[in-house]
Amino acid sequence: MFYELNDEQNSFRKKVREIYEREVSPLVEEYERKETFPVQLFRILGAEHLLCLRCPKEYGGPGLDKVSECIAVEELNRICVGIGAGIMVQGGLATDPILHFGSEELKKKYLSPAVRGEKIGAFALTEPDAGSDASGIRTTALKQGKGYRLNGLKTFITNGTICDFVTVAAYTDPARRGTGINLFVVERDDPGFSVIKKLRKLGNHSSDTAELAFDDCYVPKERMLGEEEGGGLGQLEETLKSGRLTYGARSTGVGQAAFEAILSYAKKTRRQGQPLSKSQAIRFILAEMAMSIEAMRYMTYRGAWLFDQGLASMKDASIVKLFCSESVQSIVQKTMTIQKNSGLRMDNPVQRFLCDGRLSKIPEGTSEIQHLVIAAGLGL
Ligand SMILES: Cc1cc2nc3c(=O)[nH]c(=O)nc-3n(C[C@H](O)[C@H](O)[C@H](O)COP(=O)(O)OP(=O)(O)OC[C@H]3O[C@@H](n4cnc5c(N)ncnc54)[C@H](O)[C@@H]3O)c2cc1C
Repeated sequence: MFYELNDEQNSFRKKVREIYEREVSPLVEEYERKETFPVQLFRILGAEHLLCLRCPKEYGGPGLDKVSECIAVEELNRICVGIGAGIMVQGGLATDPILHFGSEELKKKYLSPAVRGEKIGAFALTEPDAGSDASGIRTTALKQGKGYRLNGLKTFITNGTICDFVTVAAYTDPARRGTGINLFVVERDDPGFSVIKKLRKLGNHSSDTAELAFDDCYVPKERMLGEEEGGGLGQLEETLKSGRLTYGARSTGVGQAAFEAILSYAKKTRRQGQPLSKSQAIRFILAEMAMSIEAMRYMTYRGAWLFDQGLASMKDASIVKLFCSESVQSIVQKTMTIQKNSGLRMDNPVQRFLCDGRLSKIPEGTSEIQHLVIAAGLGL
């Protein structure tokens, strides 16, 4: 058993850190304040081969493994979670279903431009009345001629206002609750597709989040993922398994950023004639934070390694997501405990860690849902 990243993986971390610090860091303050996504980043990161990292070379991707993807996601989220969200969706929820379940034609059409950052992807499952329970969605895709007509509303969709295509979950057979779902690729210019509104959020300010409508939106059959009607729920589960592991890396990145910021604050700030970091109470808090981050990192990379071996179960992915998104809560709370009033200032990134960290409990399955999946995996 060997628990460390190898030389190649460590140099990959060094390389991506340099690129993100050069290309992403200078944008964070401005775009967090403007609450918009810096769309120019898609082409910049595409040119650096840092989009859709697991996409195979035959479709223009770098063809890396899950461990490498987690390294990149951790490093990007260490810099900005909002920006990290848009980039993660591009390489995960939006394109993974196309890669694994789409026809050769769809892969060529959507993956190569997504890898280059020429087209932006989104993923639409959540609806105003259905989030955790995917089988509760109401959007329908009813057969008409050589295609399907989509009708329904989607909410909280990352990259929603800026996307060129969106992978959408809808019922082809509403009578078959759960089993009658399919995934479709809808293009921005398809008649009947519209962005209703952009949503403002508590955190992840620079990520783009929107409500979308499908109003008699016609999609040719070729844009359905898979040959048969039904089976979309299984495709969603496979997609979420990968996404939940990536989420471990995302939470680890936020935790690391919060820790670095507070460590530097505790060393620089003097109280009663000595740095805060010399006070025993503060040292204990910092030690606990460091311990949690180590545990999150080990758990995430073990999960990613299992995934690369084809051994990761839904339970494994949920354990990573639950542990990391709950651990990051206590890390960001501890950061606020040390920083107190200056941590509340809007020009201090510490308040951002608190809000961004809180949001990690929700997407790709809430913490309660991860408990249910783990319990089911235990046969309970
Ligand atoms: C920043 C952000 C980005 C997002 N991006 C996307 C995106 O790109 N695409 C997309 O489709 N969605 C996206 N979402 C939506 C997200 O996936 C949903 O919010 C999430 O799945 C929860 O759904 P809900 O909000 O409808 O809550 P609900 O499902 O209504 O749940 C409400 C509460 O009840 C609990 N609960 C629900 N069912 C059970 C149960 N059976 N047992 C115990 N407790 C239960 C939940 O844990 C939660 O606490 C995003 C959300 C956020 C915050």
